[in-house]
Amino acid sequence: MDYFPIFLKLQGRACVVVGGGEVALRKVRLLSQAGARVTVVAPALVAGLAELVHQGRIAHRAGTFVAADLDGVRLAIAATDDRAVNQAVFEAGEARGLPVNVVDDPELSSYITPAIVDRSPLVVAVSTGGGVPVLARLVRARLESLIPAGFGALAGFAARFRDQVKARFADVEARRNFWESVLEGPIADAVVAGNIASAEAQMAQRLAEPDAPSGAVYLVGAGPGNPDLLTFRALRLMQQADVVLYDSLVAPELLELVRRDAERVFVGKQRANHTLPQEDINALMVRLALEGKRVLRLKGGDPFTFGRGGEEIEELAANGIPFEVVPGITSASGAAAYAGIPLTHRDYAQSVTFVTGHKKDGSIDLDWPALTRPQQTVVVYMGLSTARELCAAFVAHGRAADTPAAIVEAATTSRQRTLTGTLATLPGLIDAAQIKSPAIIVVGEVVSLAERLAWYRGGNPDGVAASKVQDDGGEG
Ligand code: SAH
Repeated sequence: MDYFPIFLKLQGRACVVVGGGEVALRKVRLLSQAGARVTVVAPALVAGLAELVHQGRIAHRAGTFVAADLDGVRLAIAATDDRAVNQAVFEAGEARGLPVNVVDDPELSSYITPAIVDRSPLVVAVSTGGGVPVLARLVRARLESLIPAGFGALAGFAARFRDQVKARFADVEARRNFWESVLEGPIADAVVAGNIASAEAQMAQRLAEPDAPSGAVYLVGAGPGNPDLLTFRALRLMQQADVVLYDSLVAPELLELVRRDAERVFVGKQRANHTLPQEDINALMVRLALEGKRVLRLKGGDPFTFGRGGEEIEELAANGIPFEVVPGITSASGAAAYAGIPLTHRDYAQSVTFVTGHKKDGSIDLDWPALTRPQQTVVVYMGLSTARELCAAFVAHGRAADTPAAIVEAATTSRQRTLTGTLATLPGLIDAAQIKSPAIIVVGEVVSLAERLAWYRGGNPDGVAASKVQDDGGEG
């Protein structure tokens, strides 16, 4: 380890920034955030610094740097483009035994500033010892995506209970276990979701009865299948769950991302092959949550779009079980983007409607006069098995037979296939290609754009070609 990491207390302490440019401004902001009393030493200031001086938030000593500027100072930063000045700051600092950083010049620095993820009071600092700042920033970017925005609030929340928890658990081990269960459980989720009242109530209950089960249900949209399209929140919950209830729409590549030792329960629904009736799924979720499990109800696409998500949480609400709903990219959006079919377009469609092609009581029950108006896009979920009837109905109710129409199978995954035609030709194309579920139908002029805008190549033909070359010999 080339540098010793520390977090420095600067509240009310005098700090000096030498230089009056944009870089100096950034450093001044950071120091101010940490509560430092900042003086800028420079002959002239950029507008942003001048404004801070004007507001009385920092002091300015107009002039070039002299060693005495560092008298009584706790920390100094040199941000000028004159190396001689930077050097003078460094030497004056060394002579006084105070830490000096020259921006982007580790040689002339007694400390370096890390890349930071700021979820105050939680702060993560990353350093490569000044050698590869870009790498430090890359690592920071990854951490940014890993640490929920609400973790600052969580740290603040936990700190408020510190004394109470300490008084409640004399034993260090017991205390640690308690905190772990709080910080990884429904209480933390409630804080991150901004639901402080609920978090406080749960906390009070946990302190009174630490061993009472504390389950919760997370109704999570897993998106249309491509793991890259998961939300951060979905991924985090997948990695914390005790039990996962999933159905046939959840792509296998997504299940791979669920915590390894989580129990997996298949509950679902292929048309006409209902593995578990909806009421049983609801009851199962309630039971598991009451046992204290963190239950992940993973849904294809978005849970509130043709996902019966509403019904599932009604039952939870009725039983007083904490729950959270995480939206996912619905398959209409996924299919549209990955097939190059904008759902709205200034020239072709001013609105888009999502409908289900599922039959109810033997017929497709849709508002046809509304759906066949021009200048709109209609996306049909669950319409594969009724595609022929659907297309005929669009035409029978007045949409032109040559209206462009497409079907996208397994949208966004490596198995994606897109067929485009018209209301007249699409059913034949579907039969010929033997399109399988899940598949989604898009009707409207926007479909004609796919020819130019399709960019996704699903199965990655390049990858296939490369492996073939290797199989062929390796003698060359
Ligand atoms: N809640 C889901 C929809 C569930 S209804 C969502 O928001 O996407 C099931 C229908 O969704 C399927 O019949 C199919 O029409 C569509 N669907 C789901 N995933 C799909 C995918 N990867 N590709 C194409 N259609 C998909």
